[in-house]
Amino acid sequence: MSRTSLVSIFVAILLLLGARAIHTQNAKTPGPLRIEKVKGDLYMISGEGGNVAVYVTSEGVLLVDDMFDRNHADILAQVKSVTDQPIRYVVNTHQHDDHAGGDLKMLPLAEVIAHRNVRANLVDIKQPYYEDTPGTPIGLPRVTFSDELAVYLGGKEVRAKYFGRGHTSGDAVIYFPDLKVIHTGDLFLGRRGAAAPQTRPPGVNIYVDYAQGGSFLEWTKTLDGALQMDFDTVIPGHGPVSTKADVMQFRADLEAMRNRVAALVKEGKAKEEVVQVLEADYGWKATGCPLSPPTAGCLQFQQADAMMAELKR
Ligand SMILES: [Zn+2]
Repeated sequence: MSRTSLVSIFVAILLLLGARAIHTQNAKTPGPLRIEKVKGDLYMISGEGGNVAVYVTSEGVLLVDDMFDRNHADILAQVKSVTDQPIRYVVNTHQHDDHAGGDLKMLPLAEVIAHRNVRANLVDIKQPYYEDTPGTPIGLPRVTFSDELAVYLGGKEVRAKYFGRGHTSGDAVIYFPDLKVIHTGDLFLGRRGAAAPQTRPPGVNIYVDYAQGGSFLEWTKTLDGALQMDFDTVIPGHGPVSTKADVMQFRADLEAMRNRVAALVKEGKAKEEVVQVLEADYGWKATGCPLSPPTAGCLQFQQADAMMAELKR
């Protein structure tokens, strides 16, 4: 064997090892999921990533969100455990890959629907976006809407409503009017029981995705829109099934925290000081955030400069 071919074999092996290292880094073992009944024919799958709503009708199943790409097989299995009906629709609350990471695998099975800004963000940023799984393949929704969209299936109705910016620029609130239940995506995070971080002064662990149109300022207005709806039960983006009162408290805490931080920014405090307050008083973390599970309130993944620029207004 010539010296040149030995070198090229060596190079090929190095390249293969490199590719494998990247793949191993991206591939994660899916965590265990569970399904619970929320109300009537509505169920919630949780355990990893964002909460998935499963609405069973006589003409098929509608899902709200589909978690990470890696959870796809288990999502199908969880749905199968409550119904033999096929999945017909997936409505995304937003494009982060802990919520919409399964879209690519859902597209051959179901119609995937999202707000037009979700699709635009996906096209623009070229990934479903979350640091947890770089390289997750994108599944672009085939159907989009601007303000409101309704799906009628098996005599049941599901509405997707857009109330404005918050967590991203495309957060939809999904409404099940017959059951008076909403799925909020990450506009609201369940804080009951062990998941309830009691912060003094009041605050919330949120994630404002400025890179994808999120807004700390407009978040409360967006929640006000959702609170106008007639509902009593809430599937949050993450955390346990909650109530309308929980959303109202979350909104109040978010506003109190935002106003305090905005006051600091307007006083001309340096970024370091603002970050320090968020860490000390509100439990946000500027460093050392785990990549998984997605940890809201992790300032490390947020754009502190963009946040301060917005709050200065
Ligand atoms: Zn999110």
